[in-house]
Parts: sequence; structure tokens; C-alpha cells
Amino acid sequence: MSAAYTYDDENIFAKILQGDIPCKEVYRDEYALAFHDINPQAPTHILVIPTGKYVSIDDFGANASAEEVAGFFKAVSKVAEQEGLLENGFRSIANTGDHGGQEVPHFHVHLLGGAKVGPMVSKKAA
Ligand code: 5GP
Repeated sequence: MSAAYTYDDENIFAKILQGDIPCKEVYRDEYALAFHDINPQAPTHILVIPTGKYVSIDDFGANASAEEVAGFFKAVSKVAEQEGLLENGFRSIANTGDHGGQEVPHFHVHLLGGAKVGPMVSKKAA
């Protein structure tokens, strides 16, 4: 059985995509928009979001077209290079759902770098 997804058109990233809320944009094309996180957790902290309406990484993988998936991840690579993250590396995170700590229900990938970003998770599983 596959999950059903209900997209909230009022979520903050939908408003950013529509231009209703400003952002510090670093990249935009047909498939993706990238902008600085408002509360950076590393010297470089960029969010990359698809232009399509997908709630989460699993919604995106299950329901986006092959063209959208390719276009999105091509954009992730371009942004990582453009923002100078390739030389020393970076972390990419896609928080998902309640246990994943996802706050905004529009699929996004965090790109964190500019310094060592520390342990992968703050707490080991019990
Ligand atoms: P999540 O917890 O859903 O993976 O991450 C959501 C991220 O969106 C957080 O890191 C938060 O700082 C960021 N964020 C929330 N609201 C805004 C906003 O209005 N503008 C920008 N640029 N980032 C936001």
C-alpha cells in the first residue's frame, strides 16, 4: 500500500515559491529553487526545494516524474558547486515527517557546509 499525500498550499515554502514571502535566493530553474535558511545551522545553510508540490522525499520519489527528479538533483549539484561546497564537502539532509523532525511540509534538502558540521545525529537510537 502506498501512502496518500495531501499538500498544504499555505505552507511557508509554497508562499516563497509564489513570491508571497521573500527569500535570499541563490538559484532557480524550472525544477528547483534554492535559498538561504532563515536560521542557519552552519556557515553555509541552503535549502533546495522542488518547484512541484511534494510533501516529502518519499512523496517526491513516488510521484514526481523522472524529469522532475533528475532536474531537482541536477539543481542540488549546481547549487553545491555554486556555493563552494564541493572542495571540503557538506551534509545534505531531508527531514521527513514527525520522527524526522520535518517542520515545513514541502520537500526540501538542506545543504550544510563551510565548516565541519558535527555528528550525523544528536542522539543515538535507544
Ligand atoms: P525542516 O525542519 O522542515 O527540515 O526545515 C525547515 C527549515 O526551514 C528550517 O531550517 C527553518 O529554519 C527554515 N525556515 C522556516 N521558515 C523559513 C522562512 O520563512 N524562510 C527561510 N529562508 N527559511 C525558513
